[in-house]
Amino acid sequence: MKYYSTRNCDKQYSFAEVVLQGLAPDGGLLVPASLPSLTPSALNGQSYQAVAEQLFTPFMAPDFSVTEVAALVAQSYRNFTVADVVQSKELKDCTVLELFHGPTLAFKDIALQFLGRVLNELLQQHDEHCVVLGATSGDTGGAAIAALDHMARCQVFMLYPKGRVSLVQEAQMNRRVGDNIFPLELEGSFDDAQHLVKATFSDPDFRRAVKLTAVNSINWCRVMAQMTYYAHAVKGRERPSQGAVSFAVPTGNFGDVLAGYYVQRMGFPIDKFIVACNENDLIARFSASGVYRPNPSLATLSPAMDIQVASNFERLLFELCGRDSDYINTKMEQLRLNGEFSVEPEILAKFHQSFEVYAISNDETAAIMRETAADGYLVDPHTAVGIAARRRSALPDVIALATAHPLKFSELVTQVTGQALPLTPALESLVEQPKRCFTLVNQQSKLQEFILSRCQ
Ligand SMILES: *Cc1c(COP(=O)(O)O)cnc(C)c1O
Repeated sequence: MKYYSTRNCDKQYSFAEVVLQGLAPDGGLLVPASLPSLTPSALNGQSYQAVAEQLFTPFMAPDFSVTEVAALVAQSYRNFTVADVVQSKELKDCTVLELFHGPTLAFKDIALQFLGRVLNELLQQHDEHCVVLGATSGDTGGAAIAALDHMARCQVFMLYPKGRVSLVQEAQMNRRVGDNIFPLELEGSFDDAQHLVKATFSDPDFRRAVKLTAVNSINWCRVMAQMTYYAHAVKGRERPSQGAVSFAVPTGNFGDVLAGYYVQRMGFPIDKFIVACNENDLIARFSASGVYRPNPSLATLSPAMDIQVASNFERLLFELCGRDSDYINTKMEQLRLNGEFSVEPEILAKFHQSFEVYAISNDETAAIMRETAADGYLVDPHTAVGIAARRRSALPDVIALATAHPLKFSELVTQVTGQALPLTPALESLVEQPKRCFTLVNQQSKLQEFILSRCQ
C-alpha cells in the first residue's frame, strides 16, 4: 500500500513512514492511496483477531508480512479481559458494543496496544530510538503509556492538566510505570498542554534533534486499528433481508467514527453513523450549515470529547471531495486565514448520506446515565452521549459504541447516578503505589529543556 498526504497526492509514503511520521511534512494527513476490497461474508464466524489480520495486511504490506501482522495482532490483544476483545450488551433501544476491556479501560487501548507494538518493531528494524510527546485530557495518555511502557527504544513524555483528570486516569499514567515514561503534570489546562505540544512539534530543529513522534489520533495506524470492531460487528449481516445497521459514536477528534466510515466505503453493510458530540458541537454545526468553524472548547461531563478542532475531519473531507488535494489546500488556507470554511451543497449532501449529527447537553448526558443505571447498567459519560444521540435518531437498528468503562470515571458516575462504584482490587492497589510524576510550568522552553535533559 502506498500512502499520500491529503494536501499533496504526488509524493508517496510507505506504511512504515506513515507510522513514524504521524503527520505529513506539508501539514496534511496521511491516507491510503486506495481502499482494499474485502468480502464481508468471507469473514463470517471469524474471531476479532482474524478479522484484524485480514483488514490490516493490505494496509501494512509490504513492510509487514501476513505472518508478522498476525503476530502483532496476537500480542496486542492478549491482555484484554474478554476473549473477543469487544463484547456486546442489549439495552432497551440499542445494542451497546463495549470497547473498554483493555488495560486502561477505554477504547483507545484497541488502537494504541497495536500501534505501540508496530512502532517498537519498526524502531528495532531500523535500530533507532524516538521520543513520543503528547498532551492528554486523560484517556490517550494512559493508553499510550500502557502501550509503550518499558519499550527501551521509546521515551514517552505525556502532559496532562493538573487536577483535571480522574483518579483512575491519573493512576494509570503515573503509578507502576517504567523508567522510559515521563508523566508531566502541567500547571495549566488541557488546551495549554496541547498548545505546548504543538509548538514543540513545529520547532523543526528540536523535532529532528530528539526524533519526535506522535501517537495521537491523526496517526493512520490508530484509525486503521479501529476499523476492526466495525467490520467484526457487521460481517455476518450482509444479507439484505437483515438490513444494514447504524453506529452511534461519541466523537471528539473524529478518529473513531472516521474508521467506521472507511469500513462502510470498503463495502461493509453499514447504513449510517450517528455522530454524537457533547456541547462542543463543531460537527453538529457543520452538519446543519456546511460551515466548519471551531469555537473555544467548553468543559463538559465527557472530557475526552472537549476538543475544539476535529483533526481527522480533513481525511473525511478529502474523501467527500473526491480525493482532490487542491480542494483541501484551499479549504485549509481559508480556515487558517478566516477561522472557518464552508463546503458546497453537494459535498454537504454527501456528508448526510453517511452521517447524522447530534449535540448532546450535559443534562441529557446525566439523564441517560441515571436511566441506564436504573435499568441495571452503568455507563460512563462518553458512552451516555452516544446513547443520547441514538435516542434522537429515528434509525431502526443501532449499535452504540461504549468507549470507556464506568469505573474510569467513577467519581462522576457516582455523583450523577448516586450509585457507589468501588474500585476493583487491582485498581485499589494501583492507586496506592508511589507516584512517578514530574511537574511542569506552562512554558515551552521548560518542556524542551526537560525532554533534552532526559533524552539518551
Ligand atoms: C477519545 C475518546 C472519545 C473520542 O474519540 P475520537 O476518536 O476523538 O472521536 C470518546 N470517548 C472516550 C472515552 C475517549 O477516550
